[in-house]
Amino acid sequence: MSPPIRHHELPPTAGLPPRWSDLLPGRTSLADGIAAQLRTPPLQLTCSGTAALLIALAALHERAPARRRVVMPAYTCPLVPLAVHQAGLEPVLCDLRPGHYDMDPAALRSVCDERTLAIVPTHLAGRVAAVGEAIAVAADVGARVIEDAAQALGARQRETSVGLAGDIGFFSLAAGKGLSIYEGGLLTARDPDLREHLLHTAARIARYSLRWELRRSIELLGYTALYRPRGLRLAYGQPLRRALRRGDPVAAVGDDFGLPLPLHAVGRWRRMVGARAARRLPAFLADTAALARRRLARLQEIPGIEVLDDPAGATGVWPFLLLLLPDRRARDDALAQLWQAGLGVSRLFIHALPDYTYLADIVPAQAVPNARDFASRSLTIGNSPWMDEADFETICRVLEAASA
Ligand SMILES: *Cc1c(COP(=O)(O)O)cnc(C)c1O
Repeated sequence: MSPPIRHHELPPTAGLPPRWSDLLPGRTSLADGIAAQLRTPPLQLTCSGTAALLIALAALHERAPARRRVVMPAYTCPLVPLAVHQAGLEPVLCDLRPGHYDMDPAALRSVCDERTLAIVPTHLAGRVAAVGEAIAVAADVGARVIEDAAQALGARQRETSVGLAGDIGFFSLAAGKGLSIYEGGLLTARDPDLREHLLHTAARIARYSLRWELRRSIELLGYTALYRPRGLRLAYGQPLRRALRRGDPVAAVGDDFGLPLPLHAVGRWRRMVGARAARRLPAFLADTAALARRRLARLQEIPGIEVLDDPAGATGVWPFLLLLLPDRRARDDALAQLWQAGLGVSRLFIHALPDYTYLADIVPAQAVPNARDFASRSLTIGNSPWMDEADFETICRVLEAASA
């Protein structure tokens, strides 16, 4: 039975709602504003999270030309191995801890050696990753740590922003990841010399491009017009349902990326739009965290369902809730009823990295059973303030029936 057709669509991630007034002229700095909010060292604005990673890899490789391997969790955004490949380096996969988003510590040790350039622990879904493990292994083999905080702008480990425990950290400002300038990223490093090196590298490899800036500016206008419950039906819901009807879940969640990855600077107008929106970010993060806590409590009443939460001392952000169901059958049963229902229920990345056909020549065909298990049992619930209690209760009932 499918739910009735709805005239609005909930987003799969709780993005900060854009306002038309964000588009007016002004004079503030996006990167400086966020750095002040999060109390980080200076942040460098990039054209995407992926571009931030490309710049980080180029700078680190310049410092250690003999090292070519970059270690990442076997379940992460396909843009990560694509960036490593485009940087002329080799992706190496590390399986997850069973039923968890963190890399398995023993597996991590076994894949790192004197050929390792960097380890990329990932703050998946706004959750705070165990970066300490990666730092210890990196120190032993002489590698660096790049924290992938693409999905975790605003998350903290005790009082400190994520992204600062390792050598380099980056965040994403893409549509659907919280604060957005349609595509953008923020990059930083703890060491001032390394920050300087990252700035020089960007000036060299990520130049201003009028063509890209026009395209992204038009996309940002479209985002401002359509990121609301009625517009999302057209911009998100309809393409999603079309992709699912033709049996293409990778396209449905937007996992279908190609090379080359764009690398350019961000123009002044988009920086200003982002800076205006950023002023609403702290309140929005507090509101969505409070919402998530209530929703988490309700979901935890459902036997067999696990909602991923933060380790002690960490305070993540909540763009969506990431759930593990007892098995693939239960997950697929729930999605059969919820994925096309306009309720913001979806999946994170469809596959473990070795299972994307388009990555076959880029990532090693490695056995990563825990990452596969994670991909097959997980689903996401968008933590949007636009979702009302009745919608959330509908989702909970379906999950109850599917996990029984
Ligand atoms: C989205 C994402 C990226 C890339 O960020 P973009 O801004 O989309 O380029 C990297 N890592 C993870 C875990 C992501 O979710």
